[in-house]
Order: sequence, then structure tokens, then C-alpha cells
Amino acid sequence: MLSLSDLPIRDDLRGKEPYGAPQLDVDVALNVNENSHPVPPSVVDAVRRAIDAELSGLNRYPDREFTRLRELLLTYVQEFARRQSADGATPVGGLTADWLWAANGSNEVLSHILQAFGGPGRTALGFVPSYSMHPLISESTGARWIAVDRGADFGLDADTAVAAVREHQPDVVFLCTPNNPTGGRLRTEVIEAVLNASTGIVIVDEAYAEFARPGYTTAVHLLPQHPRLVISRTMSKAFAFAGARLGYAIAHPALIDALRLVRLPYHLSALTQAAACAALEHTPALLENVEALITERDRMVTALDQRGFDVAETDSNFVLFGGVADPALLWERLLDAGVLIRDIGIPGHLRVNAGTPAETSAFIDAITAIVAAHP
Ligand code: PMP
Repeated sequence: MLSLSDLPIRDDLRGKEPYGAPQLDVDVALNVNENSHPVPPSVVDAVRRAIDAELSGLNRYPDREFTRLRELLLTYVQEFARRQSADGATPVGGLTADWLWAANGSNEVLSHILQAFGGPGRTALGFVPSYSMHPLISESTGARWIAVDRGADFGLDADTAVAAVREHQPDVVFLCTPNNPTGGRLRTEVIEAVLNASTGIVIVDEAYAEFARPGYTTAVHLLPQHPRLVISRTMSKAFAFAGARLGYAIAHPALIDALRLVRLPYHLSALTQAAACAALEHTPALLENVEALITERDRMVTALDQRGFDVAETDSNFVLFGGVADPALLWERLLDAGVLIRDIGIPGHLRVNAGTPAETSAFIDAITAIVAAHP
């Protein structure tokens, strides 16, 4: 039988594995950090109407510059930053819609950034463990991936980060805050130190920003002083819109211009744009379950802690827990109980995302029973 290795595939892709979180049909899926709550009925109606209005015009290509979507994203970005300024962060001024970019999920946003600033002969550096797609996206452009270890507590301080950047002088640095899969956030000083030490592009992946505990600050307020900074966000998590595939970036318009060179023409379909615009017009309704997910996340943290696991601090909609003697076995036993979580390959650890109250209870009950049966 013909296999991939029989084909004249690029040498640097030989032996690589595709992204592979299992997609299994289970009662309780808490494995890919989605928002467990369905899209609210008022938003479903609005999205349906918006898509309906596009259908007869699908003979035409969509707005290549997704102008309206950018305006709506800008409004949300400013509002999110403003809400944080009540917690002491500096308010952001001077951003306009040409500081915004969007694509089919933030994975595609990251891919555009790496196509423009990575590529053959270049390097991308990240602090691991972090999001598993950062190296895959980097290497898919031909860039060399440099992994720098976060150390035992999964933290990252400015000295370690700056030393790594000075040593390797990467073309692209990935920072992820809150960090997947460890959950915690970076202090703003670390981001600023990396920006000041690097000569390349600094990506701050803020996919989980809306779930952060008080005191978290988005890097958006650093943008006016740092033209090599790009912030990546998504509607897949807090917005409960993963299936629509809409990610976005905020950066200096010159950096956004570079992304325009590598994107495929009309990459955001008219249907995607219509759905995302309708959703953004209902932002408060879509975000209404964020607080509920935070409550459930904290309930998971407490329950796992009480059952003797080492629980990492989390600003995300998920929890990384350690002290697991055999992660693959515990993962399997939870699956037997109808609960799918994630083995992300960190020895002694598993990751689970917050669900609805019923899903969170199902997870806690299942792990409680397993721990009781196999002390
Ligand atoms: N960044 C991080 C840190 C993530 O965890 C994810 C999804 N798991 C993404 C980006 C990509 O999400 P999407 O493409 O759905 O926007």
C-alpha cells in the first residue's frame, strides 16, 4: 500500500505527525479547551439571518479586506482593554481597524505570521511546554524550531527569557499568556523584556485572555511602542465559536501588510465573515458563560487539590494537574467512564478543561471514584 513516505514529500516533513487530539464520541468532552456551552439562541438567530443574507451573493468573491469584521473586532479589542484598565492597566489609544487582521482560526493567523517572518533559514523560539501547534506551524514554513525549557514550575521569568533570546537571536519568539497547557500567565515585564531583547517578531498568543484572573493584563497596551509585537486571539474559546473558525491578530499596520503578502486571496469566506460579524454584534450574549466556566474551572482546581493532585495555577478555561502516577492509565479509566480529557505528553500530568456544571461534576465524580478504587 502506498504510504506518505513513498511520495516525493519535502525532506523536512518526513516522519512528522499531524496535529492529533482524539475526536471521540463521548458524553463528556473536556479535551480541546472548547467552550462547553452552546451558542445562545439569540446569537443563533442573528447568525442565521446574516448567513441567509449572503447566500444569493455567493457568486461573487467576498470582501478581501473583511472591513466590517475588522471594525467589530477593533471595538471588542478596545472594550476588553478598557475593562482591564479599571484593574490598573494603561488604556490603549490610537488603534484603528488597520491594526486588525483575521483568518480561519488563530492557527491560520499564526501560520500567516510564520509564512511572512519565518521560513527556510530562519528560526522560531518558544518556551515549552506550550501550545503544540507553535512548533508545527513554524516548521511547516521551513523555519527551525528552538524549544527553551520552562523548568519544573512551568514559570518563565524575564532573565531566563532574555538569556534565551540573546543566545539564539530568533526571527520569531512565541509567548503564550495564559499559557496552554500549563494555564498560568506571564507578567507584563517578561513580555517587555523579550521585546527589548529581540530583533525579531514577538508573538503573544492570548487565546485564553478572557478567562484570566483579576490582575491579568493584555499586551495590547504595549502595541503603540512596539511595531514588532503581534497579539494573536481567537473566537474559539471565550466566544464559544470554535466551529466557525475565526482568529484575529492585532499589530502595527506595517506588520499587518506583511500578512497580506502571504494570505491566499479571499481567505475569509463571505459566510465566515457574516457569521463572525453577527456574533460580534452579540458579544455580551456570547461571553455570558465565561464567568460560569471560570467558576467551574475553580471548582475543578479545588476538587483536584483535595484529591491530592498537584494543580498548576490557571488563568485559562482548563487545568493542568500533576502527581498522576500513570497518565495514560488514568486517561483511559476516565474515558471508560465517558469523560475525555487530554494527555499532552508532560510526564505525570493531564489536562482537563472546565465544562458545564454537569460536565464538571461528571469529571470530578469519575476521578473521585477512580482514585477511591485505585488508591
Ligand atoms: N493558541 C492557543 C494557545 C490554543 O490553545 C489554540 C487552540 N487550542 C489556538 C491558538 C488555536 O485556536 P483556533 O485556531 O481555534 O483559534
